[in-house]
Amino acid sequence: MPELLTRTELNPCKAEPQKLSIEKSAAGRRGLRLPASGRPAGEHLPAEQLRKTAPKLPELSEFDVVRHYTNLSRLNFSLDTHFYPLGSCTMKYNPKINEELCALPGFAAAHPAAPDSAAQGTLEAMHNLEKLLCEICGLSAFTLQPSAGAHGEWCGILLARAYHAKRGDAARTEIVVADSSHGTNPASAALGGFNVITVKSGPDGRVDVAELKKHIGPRTALVMLTIPGTVGLFETEICKISAAAHAVGALLYMDGANFNALIGLAKPGDFGVDIMHLNMHKTFSTPHGGGGPGAGAVGVTKALEPFLPAPRVALENGVYRTKSDYPDSIGRLRAFFGNTGVLLRAYCWLRQHSPETLRLVAENAILNANYAMAGLKDLFPAQYGGWCMHECVLSTDPATTGGVRTLDVAKRLLDYGFHAPTVYFPLIVHEALMIEPTETESRESIDLFVAAMRAIHAEALENPELLKKAPHTRPVKRLDEVGAARQPDIRW
Ligand SMILES: *Cc1c(COP(=O)(O)O)cnc(C)c1O
Repeated sequence: MPELLTRTELNPCKAEPQKLSIEKSAAGRRGLRLPASGRPAGEHLPAEQLRKTAPKLPELSEFDVVRHYTNLSRLNFSLDTHFYPLGSCTMKYNPKINEELCALPGFAAAHPAAPDSAAQGTLEAMHNLEKLLCEICGLSAFTLQPSAGAHGEWCGILLARAYHAKRGDAARTEIVVADSSHGTNPASAALGGFNVITVKSGPDGRVDVAELKKHIGPRTALVMLTIPGTVGLFETEICKISAAAHAVGALLYMDGANFNALIGLAKPGDFGVDIMHLNMHKTFSTPHGGGGPGAGAVGVTKALEPFLPAPRVALENGVYRTKSDYPDSIGRLRAFFGNTGVLLRAYCWLRQHSPETLRLVAENAILNANYAMAGLKDLFPAQYGGWCMHECVLSTDPATTGGVRTLDVAKRLLDYGFHAPTVYFPLIVHEALMIEPTETESRESIDLFVAAMRAIHAEALENPELLKKAPHTRPVKRLDEVGAARQPDIRW
């Protein structure tokens, strides 16, 4: 296991230290020794599957391994080390106490197949969480089963299908989405077996109600909107939209993955949403990114409740029970009860808040995004005027910045010590830079980010080549991202 030594004091005469490396593995070196098992090796395994020669693994002390992984982890940008304004992803601070609470042995060591009588604490937490989510969203019931936002969307689509089927309305084969909807919306609709109809946004980046009306009718099962939209805007005509959807017999679905923009401020049930999902791993305190576990809780109105996935938790005579006898249920969506670790963190987070502080979450998310936008939009124009919600979408203009594109700005930000915002999304904005500071950042860290962006803009005017080759200070230079995804080199 060679390790590069790059400390400048090794070679103080040159700015760039020489690259020294040494093989650290030594035969017989060990981090720990297991006690002898007292059984012959490979006792129960077929002879042809046993190794003839030992694997060629590095042989290292525990200290070497600890150092190796600690150093590797420091090469990354992470939420605990850097400002991380990745739009639509809500990379916010998750209080560490929630990690401790969900790891309490009574929760973490519970067997997933434990009988209800041995899991009363977990069931009570799930039951209470469902009630809190109903209250916050103005809906009648929630399922906590789906494992991610997209899984929640798919659940919602199956619910809509079951609802229309139960009414004997088989003609509803279409789902209408906005062109500013999150990419998972049309994908989930297609996966649910529906034809996807896309409505073009109006010039203000919002759904154009007149245009929407042209696309909905007796074939529409669901109008599916991301709220706020991926351009960071609230659908100010949402009451007209829900009235129009309901007038033709369709249901209204809200992708509420970015609910930190609305929590405590507005209840989707009040503006006519029939089904919605929340991303517990964005709004409700779970570190995410890198494909870790998530939860996409789905809420519904009374009319859709019978179709929710089973099992559900019910409180009967003071005892929590998992119940499966729901004849109209769409069935199970995953093994056991869901990602309870993520759900427990959400429950802990909610219990630490009051209605007033939840409202502050949304207000600060909105304030921070508008503050960042105000500091940048003279140099990085905003496509749509007015206020944004939890994120702002700006853009780079290569015509005025020596051909510098959004990708170059994003890469240069790494040199300044910031994770890049989301880039080239939403697709309807040219050279998009989608910035979501989140409610947990301080004014100082946003000021620093704005200062870095402004410095980068000045660099673009002076020396565009500097930006086109960025990053310069990171352990790896600009990567072939398509190549990295298609042919990943994951060996040491
Ligand atoms: C993140 C996100 C999703 C998808 O959530 P996953 O948990 O990644 O499946 C869907 N819609 C919106 C608006 C999102 O921001």
